[in-house]
Amino acid sequence: MNVNELPKIAGILISGIDHPSHISLNIYLPFCNFNCRNCHNYKIAKGIFEEMPYENLFWEFENNFIVDMVIITGGEPTLQGDKLINLIKLIKNKRPELIIRVDSNGSLPGIIKKLSLFVDGFAIDIKAPPFNKDKYEYTIRKKFDTESLIESVKIASELPYTIFRTVKYPWLKENDIEEIKMFLNMYGKGKPYFVNPFFNINDNDQINNVEEIPL
Ligand code: SF4
Repeated sequence: MNVNELPKIAGILISGIDHPSHISLNIYLPFCNFNCRNCHNYKIAKGIFEEMPYENLFWEFENNFIVDMVIITGGEPTLQGDKLINLIKLIKNKRPELIIRVDSNGSLPGIIKKLSLFVDGFAIDIKAPPFNKDKYEYTIRKKFDTESLIESVKIASELPYTIFRTVKYPWLKENDIEEIKMFLNMYGKGKPYFVNPFFNINDNDQINNVEEIPL
Protein backbone atom coordinates (compact mmCIF):
# COMPACT_ATOMS: atom_id res chain seq x y z
CA MET A 1 0.00 0.00 0.00
CA ASN A 2 1.26 3.46 -0.90
CA VAL A 3 2.11 5.62 2.12
CA ASN A 4 0.06 8.46 0.56
CA GLU A 5 -3.04 6.34 1.10
CA LEU A 6 -2.28 6.08 4.83
CA PRO A 7 -2.70 8.71 7.56
CA LYS A 8 0.32 10.55 8.91
CA ILE A 9 1.38 9.18 12.29
CA ALA A 10 2.24 11.63 15.07
CA GLY A 11 3.59 8.99 17.47
CA ILE A 12 3.27 5.52 18.98
CA LEU A 13 3.31 4.32 22.58
CA ILE A 14 3.09 0.98 24.37
CA SER A 15 0.50 1.18 27.16
CA GLY A 16 -0.86 -1.06 29.87
CA ILE A 17 -3.46 1.39 31.13
CA ASP A 18 -5.63 2.35 28.16
CA HIS A 19 -7.85 -0.71 27.96
CA PRO A 20 -8.70 -3.02 30.89
CA SER A 21 -6.67 -6.27 30.84
CA HIS A 22 -4.83 -5.47 27.60
CA ILE A 23 -1.43 -4.16 26.60
CA SER A 24 -1.86 -1.86 23.67
CA LEU A 25 0.19 -0.31 20.95
CA ASN A 26 -1.27 3.19 20.74
CA ILE A 27 -1.04 4.98 17.40
CA TYR A 28 -1.58 8.75 17.54
CA LEU A 29 -3.08 10.44 14.48
CA PRO A 30 -3.10 14.23 14.09
CA PHE A 31 -5.92 16.82 13.91
CA CYS A 32 -9.21 17.17 15.73
CA ASN A 33 -12.53 18.85 15.01
CA PHE A 34 -13.05 19.68 18.71
CA ASN A 35 -10.99 22.13 20.74
CA CYS A 36 -11.55 20.78 24.23
CA ARG A 37 -10.45 22.66 27.28
CA ASN A 38 -7.45 20.96 28.87
CA CYS A 39 -6.83 18.60 25.91
CA HIS A 40 -3.80 16.51 26.85
CA ASN A 41 -2.85 15.99 23.22
CA TYR A 42 -3.58 19.51 22.06
CA LYS A 43 -0.47 19.82 19.90
CA ILE A 44 -1.32 16.68 17.96
CA ALA A 45 -4.96 17.82 17.84
CA LYS A 46 -3.86 21.10 16.24
CA GLY A 47 -1.58 19.35 13.76
CA ILE A 48 1.66 20.33 15.51
CA PHE A 49 3.74 17.15 15.34
CA GLU A 50 6.76 15.51 13.84
CA GLU A 51 5.71 12.80 11.43
CA MET A 52 6.81 9.32 12.48
CA PRO A 53 8.04 7.01 9.71
CA TYR A 54 5.91 3.93 9.05
CA GLU A 55 9.06 1.82 9.41
CA ASN A 56 8.85 2.40 13.20
CA LEU A 57 5.33 0.98 13.24
CA PHE A 58 6.34 -1.98 11.09
CA TRP A 59 9.21 -2.69 13.49
CA GLU A 60 6.70 -2.97 16.34
CA PHE A 61 4.52 -5.36 14.36
CA GLU A 62 7.51 -7.54 13.51
CA ASN A 63 9.14 -7.55 16.95
CA ASN A 64 6.67 -6.64 19.67
CA PHE A 65 4.61 -9.63 20.76
CA ILE A 66 3.74 -8.27 24.20
CA VAL A 67 0.90 -6.16 22.83
CA ASP A 68 -2.42 -7.82 22.10
CA MET A 69 -4.31 -4.71 21.05
CA VAL A 70 -3.89 -1.67 18.82
CA ILE A 71 -5.54 1.57 19.90
CA ILE A 72 -5.80 4.20 17.19
CA THR A 73 -6.18 7.52 18.92
CA GLY A 74 -5.34 11.16 18.47
CA GLY A 75 -6.53 13.78 17.83
CA GLU A 76 -9.71 12.52 16.27
CA PRO A 77 -8.85 9.49 14.11
CA THR A 78 -12.19 9.43 12.28
CA LEU A 79 -11.21 12.63 10.45
CA GLN A 80 -8.84 10.45 8.41
CA GLY A 81 -11.76 8.63 6.75
CA ASP A 82 -10.66 6.05 4.16
CA LYS A 83 -7.01 6.52 5.10
CA LEU A 84 -7.87 5.22 8.55
CA ILE A 85 -9.58 2.19 7.03
CA ASN A 86 -6.42 1.56 4.98
CA LEU A 87 -4.36 1.69 8.18
CA ILE A 88 -6.68 -0.82 9.87
CA LYS A 89 -6.44 -3.15 6.87
CA LEU A 90 -2.67 -2.86 6.99
CA ILE A 91 -2.61 -3.80 10.70
CA LYS A 92 -4.90 -6.76 10.08
CA ASN A 93 -2.64 -7.87 7.27
CA LYS A 94 0.52 -7.67 9.40
CA ARG A 95 -0.90 -8.99 12.69
CA PRO A 96 -4.38 -10.47 12.21
CA GLU A 97 -4.64 -11.57 15.85
CA LEU A 98 -4.47 -8.03 17.28
CA ILE A 99 -7.65 -6.51 18.67
CA ILE A 100 -8.24 -3.08 17.13
CA ARG A 101 -9.94 -0.19 18.94
CA VAL A 102 -10.47 3.33 17.59
CA ASP A 103 -10.87 6.27 19.97
CA SER A 104 -13.36 8.95 18.97
CA ASN A 105 -15.34 11.94 20.15
CA GLY A 106 -18.32 10.43 18.33
CA SER A 107 -19.01 13.44 16.12
CA LEU A 108 -18.87 11.60 12.78
CA PRO A 109 -21.31 8.66 12.89
CA GLY A 110 -21.03 8.04 9.14
CA ILE A 111 -17.34 7.18 9.52
CA ILE A 112 -17.99 5.27 12.76
CA LYS A 113 -20.46 3.14 10.81
CA LYS A 114 -17.91 2.39 8.07
CA LEU A 115 -15.19 1.67 10.62
CA SER A 116 -17.44 -0.66 12.60
CA LEU A 117 -17.02 -3.26 9.84
CA PHE A 118 -13.26 -3.37 10.42
CA VAL A 119 -12.62 -2.84 14.15
CA ASP A 120 -13.36 -4.70 17.39
CA GLY A 121 -14.48 -1.69 19.36
CA PHE A 122 -14.39 2.04 20.00
CA ALA A 123 -13.64 4.23 22.99
CA ILE A 124 -16.18 7.03 22.73
CA ASP A 125 -15.59 10.06 24.90
CA ILE A 126 -18.70 11.63 26.38
CA LYS A 127 -17.50 15.11 27.29
CA ALA A 128 -20.54 16.35 29.22
CA PRO A 129 -24.24 15.45 29.52
CA PRO A 130 -25.24 15.11 25.84
CA PHE A 131 -28.62 16.79 26.39
CA ASN A 132 -26.93 19.79 28.02
CA LYS A 133 -25.69 21.52 24.88
CA ASP A 134 -24.31 24.55 26.72
CA LYS A 135 -22.10 22.46 28.95
CA TYR A 136 -20.99 20.27 26.07
CA GLU A 137 -20.06 23.27 23.93
CA TYR A 138 -18.33 24.93 26.89
CA THR A 139 -16.15 21.82 27.15
CA ILE A 140 -15.36 21.23 23.47
CA ARG A 141 -15.38 24.90 22.35
CA LYS A 142 -17.15 23.87 19.13
CA LYS A 143 -20.73 23.33 17.99
CA PHE A 144 -22.13 20.07 19.33
CA ASP A 145 -24.67 17.83 17.65
CA THR A 146 -26.39 15.51 20.14
CA GLU A 147 -27.96 13.38 17.40
CA SER A 148 -24.56 12.56 15.87
CA LEU A 149 -23.26 11.41 19.24
CA ILE A 150 -26.33 9.27 19.84
CA GLU A 151 -25.87 7.63 16.44
CA SER A 152 -22.18 6.96 17.12
CA VAL A 153 -22.90 5.52 20.57
CA LYS A 154 -25.54 3.18 19.14
CA ILE A 155 -23.21 1.89 16.42
CA ALA A 156 -20.21 1.55 18.75
CA SER A 157 -22.29 -0.32 21.36
CA GLU A 158 -22.70 -3.22 18.96
CA LEU A 159 -18.99 -4.10 19.14
CA PRO A 160 -17.42 -6.30 21.85
CA TYR A 161 -14.52 -4.06 22.89
CA THR A 162 -16.33 -0.73 23.04
CA ILE A 163 -16.01 1.40 26.16
CA PHE A 164 -17.27 4.88 27.06
CA ARG A 165 -15.27 7.46 28.99
CA THR A 166 -15.65 10.84 30.64
CA VAL A 167 -12.98 13.08 32.13
CA LYS A 168 -14.31 14.48 35.41
CA TYR A 169 -13.69 18.11 34.49
CA PRO A 170 -14.05 20.50 37.44
CA TRP A 171 -17.15 22.02 35.81
CA LEU A 172 -18.91 18.63 35.72
CA LYS A 173 -20.95 18.02 38.86
CA GLU A 174 -22.15 14.68 40.23
CA ASN A 175 -25.55 15.18 38.64
CA ASP A 176 -23.83 15.70 35.25
CA ILE A 177 -22.12 12.32 35.62
CA GLU A 178 -25.48 10.81 36.58
CA GLU A 179 -27.03 12.33 33.44
CA ILE A 180 -24.28 10.81 31.31
CA LYS A 181 -24.91 7.42 32.94
CA MET A 182 -28.62 7.74 32.17
CA PHE A 183 -27.75 8.64 28.57
CA LEU A 184 -25.59 5.51 28.31
CA ASN A 185 -28.30 3.42 29.92
CA MET A 186 -30.52 4.53 27.05
CA TYR A 187 -28.07 4.06 24.19
CA GLY A 188 -24.91 2.27 25.40
CA LYS A 189 -26.18 -1.33 25.63
CA GLY A 190 -24.41 -1.95 28.96
CA LYS A 191 -20.89 -1.39 27.64
CA PRO A 192 -18.28 -0.39 30.30
CA TYR A 193 -18.19 3.26 31.36
CA PHE A 194 -15.18 4.89 32.99
CA VAL A 195 -14.98 8.29 34.69
CA ASN A 196 -11.34 9.36 34.59
CA PRO A 197 -9.77 11.93 36.92
CA PHE A 198 -9.01 15.44 35.69
CA PHE A 199 -5.36 16.48 35.50
CA ASN A 200 -4.85 20.13 34.75
CA ILE A 201 -2.22 20.52 32.03
CA ASN A 202 -1.81 24.12 33.16
CA ASP A 203 -0.51 25.29 29.80
CA ASN A 204 -1.35 28.80 28.63
CA ASP A 205 -0.53 27.89 25.06
CA GLN A 206 -3.37 25.37 25.09
CA ILE A 207 -5.76 27.85 26.68
CA ASN A 208 -5.04 30.68 24.25
CA ASN A 209 -4.26 28.95 21.01
CA VAL A 210 -7.77 28.34 19.62
CA GLU A 211 -7.41 28.88 15.88
CA GLU A 212 -9.28 26.69 13.38
CA ILE A 213 -7.68 23.48 12.14
CA PRO A 214 -6.91 23.60 8.37
CA LEU A 215 -8.75 20.46 7.25
S1 SF4 B 1 -11.70 15.46 21.22
FE1 SF4 B 1 -10.99 17.04 22.62
S2 SF4 B 1 -9.64 15.97 24.07
FE2 SF4 B 1 -9.88 14.64 22.26
S3 SF4 B 1 -8.15 15.19 20.94
FE3 SF4 B 1 -9.89 16.45 20.30
S4 SF4 B 1 -9.61 18.37 21.40
FE4 SF4 B 1 -8.34 16.83 22.44
